[in-house]
Amino acid sequence: TYGFPIDLTALILSEKGYTLDSKGFEAAMQEQKNRSKSASEISKEDWVVLSKDAGQEFVGYDTLEADVKVVKYRKITSKKSGEQYQLVFNSTPFYPEGGGQVGDKGYLEEPNGDVVYILDTKKENNEIIHFTKTLPGHLNETLKAVVDKKQRQRTEANHTATHLLHQALREVLGNHVEQKGSAVHAKYLRFDFSHFAKLTDDELKQVEGFVNARIAGQLPFDENRHVPMQEALEEGAMALFGEKYGETVRTVRFGRSIELCGGTHVKNTADIWHFKIRSEGAVAAGIRRIEAITSDAVKDYFAENNKTLFEIKNLLNNAQDPLKAVESLQEENDKLKKEVESLRKGKAKDLKKQLQSELEEINGMRFLAKKVDLDAAGIKDLSFEMGSNQDDLFLLFGTEQNGKALLSCYISKNIVAEKGLNAGNIVRELGKYIQGGGGGQPFFATAGGKNPEGIDQALDKAKNFLK
Ligand SMILES: [Zn+2]
Repeated sequence: TYGFPIDLTALILSEKGYTLDSKGFEAAMQEQKNRSKSASEISKEDWVVLSKDAGQEFVGYDTLEADVKVVKYRKITSKKSGEQYQLVFNSTPFYPEGGGQVGDKGYLEEPNGDVVYILDTKKENNEIIHFTKTLPGHLNETLKAVVDKKQRQRTEANHTATHLLHQALREVLGNHVEQKGSAVHAKYLRFDFSHFAKLTDDELKQVEGFVNARIAGQLPFDENRHVPMQEALEEGAMALFGEKYGETVRTVRFGRSIELCGGTHVKNTADIWHFKIRSEGAVAAGIRRIEAITSDAVKDYFAENNKTLFEIKNLLNNAQDPLKAVESLQEENDKLKKEVESLRKGKAKDLKKQLQSELEEINGMRFLAKKVDLDAAGIKDLSFEMGSNQDDLFLLFGTEQNGKALLSCYISKNIVAEKGLNAGNIVRELGKYIQGGGGGQPFFATAGGKNPEGIDQALDKAKNFLK
């Protein structure tokens, strides 16, 4: 949202001996914040209150479906999402975004079977607010609220994995590890924690292994919804970063992992199926981030990898050992490259020999104007090669590469000094035949143009400069 972290930027700069313009940064940041604020600005209409029923019950720990009544609603408008409605029920199975976990999605079913989709769920002033695009037609009747089960299960698997990951990191890296934030989505999880160094491959493997061992261990979900805070802490429950806790708290335990948590979880760690770390990196000085996947996402990940491997094997004519097959291809490729290089050198040598035999003596210079099948770099090499043997050369080469024309002029420095010739001027002059232009130094210059048909004419005119 606000780009690369500033403290990390400062760190990198100081390592390179630079300092940070923090005043300039603050000003630019304020500007950006104003910009994104105006983009997300929301206008809210007044609440329409349907019933004075106070108190709202969250039943989403135990059920994903419930009969509910709308207590109040209002219309909101934002640039980002357009018109939406916010609905509050007397009771809801929908988990509101919190503790890093995304809000539930799902739908409301009306008595006549009509469906209104719930796009997101958030908590505001201790009320659970459901976001919809339209308003139910039967606002005063009992509606069935149904949470999207697939998304909830995937989110629960990811959320529960963050508990095990937290425990694993403290076990593998040490007790200095503290959770600094998390984002739990249906598709992946993100976990930020305090640690001073990049995790080694071995540490990552150990962390993954620790979590997967607890998944294989089929640890049951064990919760206590109302524990006095002090008691929970004495039991060793870890409080999570950025959370506010009341006098009584909910503790969530899987084996030896025990945390204060209001989120939703799998009933058994076996439901997570498998845990796979996708990336590890720095987010700020002393803070690392792990992104990982579980359950269906891991299955997709393995399936995708498997498909790629299968395709590679196919390309390698079903080699038994694709790794070995790729290695031998690389070896063969290196060998071929060397062969091509030596052939190319041989060809250049032959060409040089041939061209030297074609040199024509005019006015004390050895002259050649010819079309060759080489690129710009090849022509330059050839010209300087020839020039290293003779010091009385006037060469003009033309070539056509990818439909474009190139002229290249080389004049030995002796000749430049003696006869006052200038390769730069000459290619500029001849460039008009190929509808282009160029320049360079008095002893070497090139011109490019879009008309290859003019190359022969330009070569014909080269002799005029010798007189
Ligand atoms: Zn939790």
